[in-house]
Parts: sequence; structure tokens; C-alpha cells
Amino acid sequence: MQHLMAFGDSDLDRAAHRRSNEQVRQVLPLHQGRILAADGRLALREADDPLLANAGSPIFLGLHDGRAVHARAITGDEPTLPAGTEFAELRAMMTTLSAAEGEMAATARALLNWHASHKFCAACGNASQMTDGGWRRTCPECGTHHFPRTDPVVIMLILRGNEALIGRSPAWREGFYSCLAGFVEPGETLEAAVRREVLEETAIPVGKVRYLQSQPWPFPSSLMMGCVGYATAGEITVDPVEIAHAFWISREQAMAAIAGHLPNIEMPAQGTIARDLIMRWIADDLE
Ligand SMILES: [Zn+2]
Repeated sequence: MQHLMAFGDSDLDRAAHRRSNEQVRQVLPLHQGRILAADGRLALREADDPLLANAGSPIFLGLHDGRAVHARAITGDEPTLPAGTEFAELRAMMTTLSAAEGEMAATARALLNWHASHKFCAACGNASQMTDGGWRRTCPECGTHHFPRTDPVVIMLILRGNEALIGRSPAWREGFYSCLAGFVEPGETLEAAVRREVLEETAIPVGKVRYLQSQPWPFPSSLMMGCVGYATAGEITVDPVEIAHAFWISREQAMAAIAGHLPNIEMPAQGTIARDLIMRWIADDLE
């Protein structure tokens, strides 16, 4: 079966060797983390578009259909937009963007957020400068180079017989459930992170763990690493700080929830790795 996850794994040519000196031709404008879009697709502008009068330094995203694309963040108030375009939330476009568009938009969002939150050199405290087409910051005082960070997160489909463990965070809207997930800690393997997070959040011990697939998740800078794990016991005790409710859902219930037939259980949205893990489980396609 075909899996449809948003962001990454497209045919976008990142052309890293051209980052530092590529001429700006097409621009993806962003404003406060939202992306210029038209009908659910990216609305790229030419480099000299007046919309970009107050835009920040260009960040090279790669070559799309053979043409360079840069991202630029528009500062200040939202400018007057061309007819038919709007600044849209990336999450709302996960199923309408092409694979390459999704990768460009996710990359733009992650890098712009990193620059906005890493303006000063971590070695000496002076202001650093964007270099290498936006893929680095360099400190003019001490010369240290700083590289954009990606935070590893494990997201896991925990299985026991015909059932999978799903839960909901206290912060989520009522009825919404997903796979458990958590940040990988320094010095920890993916497999150990899966076992630790599941044990901490639900007291379920997990034996065998296997990595399946990943998804960049630029909200703000995570890389979701999807794993399948096999529980060795079934009694759930949630950590109420992390989890409001968790339960074992059967394959049949999960299918019904995805079809919208269970009014009290909402499953992860299309385009997310959580949805893809659940769909692969339902289709018996976890190899
Ligand atoms: Zn420095």
C-alpha cells in the first residue's frame, strides 16, 4: 500500500554545494511561521516582488524543477497580498502540498525558527550572523560556526496481540488520541527511548523495538522517528502529568475510528507519521 506522509523524502535537490552563492530567483515568503499559499499549494514569488520589501535574509532551500528557491521571512505587519494568496498554517496544508513543496516548507520553517531563536554565539555571547545561505551562523568575534539543530523524537506504535496502545495528552482536544511519543535524551538509543517513554507514561513494559520510518516535524524542529514495539504486559497506569488517558485499541476499533464511526475517538490527521503507523498496522504492513 502507498503511505502518504507530509514533509521530506521528496525529489527536492538540496544542492548543498550551491548554498553560499546561489542567486535568488524564486522566493517562498513566510510571515510569523505561516507560509504564502494559494489553494493549498505554495505561492512562490519572483525575487523582485514588492511583497518582499521587508523580508529577511534569503535561505537557500534547493532546486525545484531546476530553479533555485529561497525562503524569506517578512517582518512587521502582514503586507497586502496578491489576490488569491494567504499566509497559511503549514499543518493545514499537509495533504495538499506536493512532496517537494512539503519538504521546502518544512525546511524553511525549521531554519527560520532556528535563526530567530539562536541570534547569539553560544561560545562567547556576541551576536552571530547568518552564513552559508542560511545553513549556518558564524560569530564575527570568535569565529565559531553554529549549525541548525534537529531534535530527535521517538513516536511508537506499541502492540500487544490484536491491540495497539494509544493515549492523549491533557493539553489535547477532547477525544483526540495518538501514538505515544517523547524526546530522545542525550546518550540514549532510539530503542531505549521508546521503552523509557512508554514505561514512564503508561507503566507498560516494552520488549522488542524496531525502527520503521521518520518524518521531519518543524513545530519547531523535531525529527519524528517512528518505531514499533511489543508490550510484555498490558496493565496501564498513566502518569497524569503527561497522559490524560491511554487504552488498548483493537484493529477493528481503530479502523472504525479512522472511518469516523466512533464519535468519541479521533485519530491522528492524514499526513502525520502517527496516522501512517496506525494505517500500516491496520494493513498488516509493518515490515
Ligand atoms: Zn563567538
